[in-house]
Amino acid sequence: LYDCIVIGAGVIGCAAARELGLYTPNVCVLEANSDVGEGTSKANSAIVHAGFDAETGSVKAATNVAGNRIFPKYCQELGVPFIQNGSLVLCFSHDRRNDLEALLQRGIQNGVQGLRIVEADELRSLEPNVSDNAVMALYAPTAGIVCPFTLCVALAENACANGVSFRFDQRVQGIERIDGGFAVHTGDNRYEGKTVINAAGVFADEVARMAGGKTCGITPRRGEYCVFDRTVGDLVRQTLFQLPGPMGKGVLVTPTVHKNLLVGPNAQDIEDKQDSSTTAEGLDVILSTGAQSVQSLPKNMVIASFAGLRAHPQDDDFHVGEDDGIPGFYHAAGIESPGLSSAPAIAAMLCEDIVRRCGLCKNKNAITHRDPIPRFLEMDEREREAAIAADHAYGNIVCRCETVTEAEVVQSIRRVPGAKTIDGVKRRVRCGTGRCQGGFCMPRVSAILMREQNLAMEEITKMGKDSHIVTGPIKEASACER
Ligand SMILES: Cc1cc2nc3c(=O)[nH]c(=O)nc-3n(C[C@H](O)[C@H](O)[C@H](O)COP(=O)(O)OP(=O)(O)OC[C@H]3O[C@@H](n4cnc5c(N)ncnc54)[C@H](O)[C@@H]3O)c2cc1C
Repeated sequence: LYDCIVIGAGVIGCAAARELGLYTPNVCVLEANSDVGEGTSKANSAIVHAGFDAETGSVKAATNVAGNRIFPKYCQELGVPFIQNGSLVLCFSHDRRNDLEALLQRGIQNGVQGLRIVEADELRSLEPNVSDNAVMALYAPTAGIVCPFTLCVALAENACANGVSFRFDQRVQGIERIDGGFAVHTGDNRYEGKTVINAAGVFADEVARMAGGKTCGITPRRGEYCVFDRTVGDLVRQTLFQLPGPMGKGVLVTPTVHKNLLVGPNAQDIEDKQDSSTTAEGLDVILSTGAQSVQSLPKNMVIASFAGLRAHPQDDDFHVGEDDGIPGFYHAAGIESPGLSSAPAIAAMLCEDIVRRCGLCKNKNAITHRDPIPRFLEMDEREREAAIAADHAYGNIVCRCETVTEAEVVQSIRRVPGAKTIDGVKRRVRCGTGRCQGGFCMPRVSAILMREQNLAMEEITKMGKDSHIVTGPIKEASACER
């Protein structure tokens, strides 16, 4: 009987598992996909919001502001790339000053520190490439940018280091109440836990129904993005928003921690909870809207596009805590934006209750620190020489665009939970995220995955299940080709 079963290994499930792991190793995370962070947590703006958007008094506002405060230390402990670059909400007309003032007041009431309105001159000194049409902005120095992939991976690795187990390819299909807790069914397997956390993202309403619980309906709200080449990543310093509308925070232009430029998202309510396709119209809209924020958007430098699905709750607020009718069953449902920013605070809230219910004490020997995989790209010459001397695989560049070495790929596979797929390697060490989008490195990464996992080429997948890269040989290789 586990102390807790966490359903879903997105940023919320991973953060909860990490937090609980500081008390007990007796925690199991069940994930439908083959890796952590395969849902919404891999496809978002990666902003650690300051906390002025959400209604004062909402769970969203409280967890966003609290989460934002936790982030710097959190990322330092976990070896996650994070930069507190600040954000600016741009205003293009003096007539809308009241809207900016309202955001400022809301932010102050929510407890956001350092918020202020900057006028045109200061705006230009903060952000030299801002559009000439911007007349003022709301400046939030506490906003930041983070690597959402590394965050999920790091939380999971740290949880595992403290004994927590992750079970992948385990889609929860039924939940029954048993003496002392719950039995959770995933097709072939049955898991028992004293408590359950429902952190199933856009599927959290369905998981709630399996247990007979009450949480509000969730609509998938799709947001599309364009990623720009690293050569134009320094176009902006801060994250540039425009004044928000009824569907959310609108299109932003932001640097990423990996020095790319990101533009998006739009917001479109859809029906299919798995439809993360992009559309030509959607990408056109975000590029033309984003272009209004800067002097000139280099549209010819787009290297990739993607879409993510917000778990939009009917009543507009996060549902965090024990279900009213089911003692021991906890929801983290309707966690749309700013769920990434709020994750540490949501995890702390859930953990506090579960620790009390299960009578757990903090494990004094728990590991709170996680070392990142050393990146060849970020080493100076002396460090590179030392790395290659210690491990020759640091001398073999696998991904040319992002300068990723074989040693990094191997470490990403050997860690726990390690990468098992092409995308798993990509999200851990960035192979395939550059200008060629994997054209050069994919065969090389496949070969390392085969070697490390003792698999045949036909067994290598992009993202688990039936996403195979090749189906079989088209002809036998001759001895000299081999
Ligand atoms: C376009 C967009 C932009 C955003 N921008 C930001 C931002 O800049 N800053 C910010 O703070 N937030 C942002 N967010 C929100 C943030 O990404 C989410 O709040 C966060 O990722 C939600 O994490 P999660 O763990 O709840 O969900 P997910 O990451 O979706 O994880 C849920 C997991 O549950 C698994 N699962 C589902 N059903 C089952 C089942 N039956 N059995 C087992 N496993 C199951 C899924 O496979 C998935 O891995 C954005 C979201 C979107 C879509």
